[in-house]
Amino acid sequence: MTPDFPTPTLSQGCNGLQLEDVSLAAIAETYGTPTYVYSRRALVEAFSAYQRALAGRRALVCYAVKANSSLGVLSVFAQLGAGFDIVSGGELSRVLAAGGDAGKVVFSGVGKSRAEMRQALAAGIRCFNVESAAEIDRLNEVASELGKVAPIAFRVNPDVDPKTHPYISTGLKSNKFGVAFDTALELYRRAASLSHLRVSGIACHIGSQLLDPAPIAEAATKVLDLVDRLAAEGIALDHIDLGGGLGIRYRDEVPPTVTEYLGPLLKLLDGRTEEICFEPGRSLVGNAGLLLTRVEYLKPGEEKNFAIVDAAMNDLARPALYDAYHEVVAVQPRDVPARNYEIVGPICESGDFLAHDRSLAVEPGDLVALLSAGAYGMAMSSNYNTRPRAAEVMVDGQRVHLIRQRETVESLYALESPLS
Ligand SMILES: *Cc1c(COP(=O)(O)O)cnc(C)c1O
Repeated sequence: MTPDFPTPTLSQGCNGLQLEDVSLAAIAETYGTPTYVYSRRALVEAFSAYQRALAGRRALVCYAVKANSSLGVLSVFAQLGAGFDIVSGGELSRVLAAGGDAGKVVFSGVGKSRAEMRQALAAGIRCFNVESAAEIDRLNEVASELGKVAPIAFRVNPDVDPKTHPYISTGLKSNKFGVAFDTALELYRRAASLSHLRVSGIACHIGSQLLDPAPIAEAATKVLDLVDRLAAEGIALDHIDLGGGLGIRYRDEVPPTVTEYLGPLLKLLDGRTEEICFEPGRSLVGNAGLLLTRVEYLKPGEEKNFAIVDAAMNDLARPALYDAYHEVVAVQPRDVPARNYEIVGPICESGDFLAHDRSLAVEPGDLVALLSAGAYGMAMSSNYNTRPRAAEVMVDGQRVHLIRQRETVESLYALESPLS
């Protein structure tokens, strides 16, 4: 029986697990480990689910680049006509390098620098999602220096509880994100009076890994009410951006489908003329990727058995950071007894674990895959312990594209100099 993997294009083949038509063992052979492996088909299918749910509407899906900013991943979405939600000038550069359209870029984030504003204005982005009163003054100034007019939306904080992990909940009053709902009207009036701003839309994003459509519909109700109050004052918006946040299955979660998630929202939007935007990250890439790693050592213990693998918290930080769960599966079947293991990396930190208490039938040298690692995996990786970052490959049918070479150790200290 083929288990039902959260990574949809993963299956059991004759040479062990395969993603689309390529065996993971062959990928490890060619590219080494640890390696992030993505499925192009899974990316396309995830994006198409949004397109289908939004068919017949004036809508733009802006992929949230921070979830996975590899050029290979961005280029797949750019080819599908996606917009992009960025949070830094660096991400804007990546989007353009991957063939993305600046005219479909929205720029979120609480700390945009003047240099980032200049870069985004020069590129001609679609909208700045402004997160504070101070930011409109700075943006107006920078735009006026360049002789440009900056399109803006306020990211409002609708103060709804998304019922998710506190580190990824962003729409409560106590968060640093967005402008308080009751101050928004006043801020729009002020923005409308500034010469180098053009009020274009409104945005909100309440959190991540949302499994219930109710909070986002509640947020949308509040946002639409504000849009109508603005219109009554003669401030007409051309788009409504409801953020990202749809959750995925890591373990036994049952997230709504895109259609189920957007359904209640789209009902609220029926008959409206504004363009509707979304900023999904995790739900587009999370289940399209896995982290392929090799068992270095097995270390049986009195209380716990450890499987020490060649990936670590620097490659995949989510378990250490949020105590996140990733499914761990052996790539090739082994005729040895299954044991329960702590899956840990070589880093000198007790927090360096990838999974707890997993039953695996493996021997040293075997490959294992950590599933659902496409979002906030490579993007949050680091070089802690002078570990070169993993390679990244994109499977496309029977083909494999190396989309990021494994880093070399020399490159890690190329910008440093010892004292003479
Ligand atoms: C992180 C983020 C997103 C994407 O969130 P996901 O949970 O990955 O869909 C969208 N919009 C903004 C403003 C964000 O900060």
